[in-house]
Amino acid sequence: MKLTQARQKYKCHECKKDINKGDKYKKKSLKFGSPTYINGYAEEETVEKINGTPVHVGHVIRVTAQLCFNCATKGMNNIDLQVVLRKEIKESINNIQRRINNE
Ligand SMILES: [Zn+2]
Repeated sequence: MKLTQARQKYKCHECKKDINKGDKYKKKSLKFGSPTYINGYAEEETVEKINGTPVHVGHVIRVTAQLCFNCATKGMNNIDLQVVLRKEIKESINNIQRRINNE
C-alpha cells in the first residue's frame, strides 16, 4: 500500500474527516459504469456516430477519492501496519538525508 502526502486539503471519502495539507493519505480509484463488449473485448471507450458525427463515448468513469490514514489502514493486521509504517519512516529518513546532502 502506498501513502501519499497531501498537497492540499481533502475530505476523507469514508469518515468525511479532513485530510490536512502534509497528512498522509491513500488514493483510491472509484470506478463507475461498466465496459461495453465488442467481439468479446471489454471496451471502456468507444467511438460512435451520433447524427453522423463520430463521438467518443466513455462507458467507464474513474474518479480518485482520498482516504485518511486511519481509514486506509483500518482492518490491517499488525504485521501489514508495521510494513506500512516502516516504509513511511524509511521515506522520511531518506528525505532528511537528501535535505542534508543538498545543504
Ligand atoms: Zn477517514
